[in-house]
Amino acid sequence: MSRLHQDRSVIITGSTSGIGLGIAHAFAREGANVTLNGFGDADEIEKIRAGLEAEFGVKVRYSHADMSKPAEISAMVGGTVSALGRCDILVNNAGIQHVAPVDEFPLEKWDAIVAVNLSSVFHATRAALPHMKAANWGRVINIASAHGLVASPYKSAYVAAKHGVVGFTKACALEVAEQGITVNAICPGYVLTPLVEKQIDDQAKVHGIPRENVIRDILLAPQPNKRFAEIDEVASLALYLASDAAQGVTGTSISIDGGWTAR
Ligand code: NAD
Repeated sequence: MSRLHQDRSVIITGSTSGIGLGIAHAFAREGANVTLNGFGDADEIEKIRAGLEAEFGVKVRYSHADMSKPAEISAMVGGTVSALGRCDILVNNAGIQHVAPVDEFPLEKWDAIVAVNLSSVFHATRAALPHMKAANWGRVINIASAHGLVASPYKSAYVAAKHGVVGFTKACALEVAEQGITVNAICPGYVLTPLVEKQIDDQAKVHGIPRENVIRDILLAPQPNKRFAEIDEVASLALYLASDAAQGVTGTSISIDGGWTAR
């Protein structure tokens, strides 16, 4: 039996790859109509979109909104309501990373990371909330990170943005708590996706060491269970948070980090 009510509509930002794509797949499987978003090859994206529709018999649309552009974000939410009739669940997942020491951090990378990883969460939530309030039901699920709770060197912009997401999650949850809307953050440790693949290469360059050493000695060093989290683990938690069973869970950050932040 599906964990979601019939005809729920979900927007997942940054869902052409990695965790977002896994979440899109999981929600479509549960019968939700989906708005995909993110960059990539147009033919590949259309293949994903049409494939999800065909496999699960749900409506799947694609928005090319750039999460660093507030007007495009609000158009993505408006377009979802026009096309799918509702906007029940928002998964703020789009994210980028850049690794460099603070005093060498490129200004444009700082601005881009804050825009995509933090400000887009505000802009998308701001646009979606009126529709959720009108329905007296809604779910905002923010994909933060273990780096929303603790820090690592060379990731100042990412750590600052993800801590901001956790703070935003709490403030927003308090505002809408009486309106059937929950707002939560998921804080994964390392999940092997294209974003992490790139970090492995970047860290190898910064530290001048081979990829296998980056994985063992840097990435998985703080993760006590010494394994990457699976995309499906994150998607399953997102599905739970979107279900009625999680109606009392709000304003919180749930870790999937193998014990990292228990230290
Ligand atoms: P990914 O690189 O595989 O996917 C990122 C997605 O965001 C892609 O679809 C990309 O097109 C999209 N995107 C990037 N910039 C965008 C923009 N300006 N506008 C719209 N879409 C944009 O990365 P991932 O690992 O799947 O990461 C997804 C989220 O999970 C991110 O917020 C990331 O910080 C977070 N996260 C990842 C890990 C991990 O280990 N992979 C751990 C903790 C948190």
